[in-house]
Amino acid sequence: MRRKLIVGNWKMNGSHAALAELDGIAAAASAAPAVDVAICPPATLISAAATRAPFLTIGAQDCDAATQGAHTGCLSAGMLVEAGAQIVIVGHSERRRDQHETDPEVRAKAAAAMAAGMTAIVCVGETEVQRDAGSAIKVVRAKLDGSVPPDATADRLVIGYEPLWAIGTGRIPSLGEVAEIHAAIRAKLIGLLGPAGTDVRILYGGSMNAGNAAGLLAVADVDGGLIGGASLTAAQFVPIIEAAEAVG
Ligand code: PEP
Repeated sequence: MRRKLIVGNWKMNGSHAALAELDGIAAAASAAPAVDVAICPPATLISAAATRAPFLTIGAQDCDAATQGAHTGCLSAGMLVEAGAQIVIVGHSERRRDQHETDPEVRAKAAAAMAAGMTAIVCVGETEVQRDAGSAIKVVRAKLDGSVPPDATADRLVIGYEPLWAIGTGRIPSLGEVAEIHAAIRAKLIGLLGPAGTDVRILYGGSMNAGNAAGLLAVADVDGGLIGGASLTAAQFVPIIEAAEAVG
């Protein structure tokens, strides 16, 4: 039985004042016992977020593959754990685009996160050109092949399926398209990890909001959501938590 997981990715947004949003989010999470809720603030806020909202899962948006050393500006998974993070997003499409992260680098980051005791959310997705060309499933399968550590276990791995053209655009795939690609991801995970692939949670990400969450979260093999813009305020994020609780 896979519990629904709702993850907010604050990206490069939020100052200490924004942590007040966690109060309402934590209250909604307590009122949704069937749902796991995580917030990934900027790294500068992880420690304060973990202190302010001890009953929420606090996460990071990236980690380095190395444990320590001469990597100026980078943060190891162990450092993030020490700051209070329990979960980390790796291979988000914005990092694949802006920092030119490759599949092997994403896999190494995920492995480092798991070795430090964190859960890694490995992100995969296709561009609009790739979807229009009919190759979305092929692209996502290849990203999973390259990015998922072969020894990953279901309690330490989450997949974030995020069509790049849906991130921050207000557009989402049809529910049929979501069902098709999540089923393909499930099959690929079972191929890669064996029976453990059945238990890995697969999140949908890309313009999920209060209006479309219930429909998306009811699709087979959609085990939760990875939410950017609509996670920045409790007013927008809480209805998504409530929708997940209603779907169960
Ligand atoms: C994201 O970037 O992970 C994301 C899903 O963003 P948004 O919800 O704003 O589309």
